Amino acid sequence: MQNSQRVWVFDLDDTLHDASSHIFPVMNKAMTQYIMDTLNIDEHHAFKLRQHYWRIYGATLKGLMRHHGVDPYHFLCETHDNIDLENMVSETKKLRHCINRLKGRKVIFTNAPMNYAIRVLNVLGIADLFTVVFSVESTNFHPKPSVRGFRQLLHVIKAKASDCVMMEDNLPALMTAKRMGMKTVWISKSLQKPSFVDLRINNVLALTHSRI
Ligand SMILES: [Mg+2]
Repeated sequence: MQNSQRVWVFDLDDTLHDASSHIFPVMNKAMTQYIMDTLNIDEHHAFKLRQHYWRIYGATLKGLMRHHGVDPYHFLCETHDNIDLENMVSETKKLRHCINRLKGRKVIFTNAPMNYAIRVLNVLGIADLFTVVFSVESTNFHPKPSVRGFRQLLHVIKAKASDCVMMEDNLPALMTAKRMGMKTVWISKSLQKPSFVDLRINNVLALTHSRI
């Protein structure tokens, strides 16, 4: 049942648009290059380290900050600002319509940097539909799936977890969302659904026909 208290919390990449096909390969290459240059290691080791930190922290940046004293703002700028989003993201009227018809507040909760998130939302033509964009900087660099990041989000949007529905492609983030009391929607083509996922849909557009 929908109510006006409800807060729709959307992840950005691979939830509201396809980032895996074109953006992530470019971004991952830039991150590997950044690690090679900063830590003075070869490509193979930089690649492994990037994946390792992503796996254990949910974000490469967190590992680089914690273990190598990397300046997060420099890292985010070097790895995100040069991506040609205008040619990699496209606006769809259907997406705008789908989000617009949901009753209640809508916010973005992404592990991406603010500047990147705003650029993507502008190209998608949906930036005006969200009351808050909560980025990795907003979490004080405690990205999803960290409970601290979720707590900060709830504090800023002044909402109870039980009023929130989290839409995500990433299962660890949904696990935290569920533990905190949110409803969970997994954007995935998987045929199986873990118990902490309330609803699985192939594409965010399917929200229009779903009950949550
Ligand atoms: Mg995502």
